[in-house]
Amino acid sequence: MSLPVSIAEAITETASRLRDVSESARFDAEMLIARAIDMPRSYLFAHPEDILDAAAVARLEATVQRRLAGEPMAYIRGSKEFWSLDFMVSPATLVPRPETEILVDRALGAIPRKARWPVLDLGTGSGAIALSVAHERPLCEVVATDISADALAVARENARQLQLCNVEFLQGDWTQPVRDRTFRVILSNPPYVREGDPHLDLLQAEPSAALTAGPEGLEAIDVIARDCRAIIDDNGILFIEHGSEQREAVAETLLSYGWCSIQCYDDYAGLPRVTSAHPEASETT
Ligand code: GLN
Repeated sequence: MSLPVSIAEAITETASRLRDVSESARFDAEMLIARAIDMPRSYLFAHPEDILDAAAVARLEATVQRRLAGEPMAYIRGSKEFWSLDFMVSPATLVPRPETEILVDRALGAIPRKARWPVLDLGTGSGAIALSVAHERPLCEVVATDISADALAVARENARQLQLCNVEFLQGDWTQPVRDRTFRVILSNPPYVREGDPHLDLLQAEPSAALTAGPEGLEAIDVIARDCRAIIDDNGILFIEHGSEQREAVAETLLSYGWCSIQCYDDYAGLPRVTSAHPEASETT
């Protein structure tokens, strides 16, 4: 960047450098510049003629390099908004996706406001799902599991920052830490991308264990469908997020383990994204 450079010039130049790696290059540029000068983004629009000092330019350049190397904005900023809450994220956790809000929304639709139900989130990552449900249903006791101790540390910190006391975190492989319990609602956004899916090239900064699950992307869903039968209340409901092309395969898997009343819901893009199932035939669906 040729110095001296104003905020307005830095935005234009940084946005054009980020164009190949980001669909929101201008917004990313603004966020990175705001971060480099330690001001809110709104400051940039009020002071476009301010000159960036050398230290700010150096800070900006360091984060632009990370973004150019494919790191998501959420890791650079250290946080991501989900369900209107602010979640800390790290490379140990997936970045929460907007489509996962469908899972939360559907689950909340199944949990009355005053319910004191036990709820389980399998593979919680940053805790986005578990903590959003805990926030909206403060009387529910939410259990969140993850195999990764590093992810659970992030999730616990998020619970602390959001001041949520109705969430318990347990480390282990899927249902392994909760085999002796029963839950009224079970939720999961498991890894479901196929190994070798070209889409993974764009997701290299995120933990592959949170993204991929075997050649068809169905291995984790299979384990969840199999093992949740033993820990779900007779009146319970299971919600699983999956790939937009996995609707039939997920339904078949659930049926093969005896789940009933299977329903699929679309995401904001109109793609099938979340499937629910009951352990027993129910009149409510
Ligand atoms: N929906 C994510 C993606 O394709 C994948 C999340 C997941 O595997 N759980 O970007």
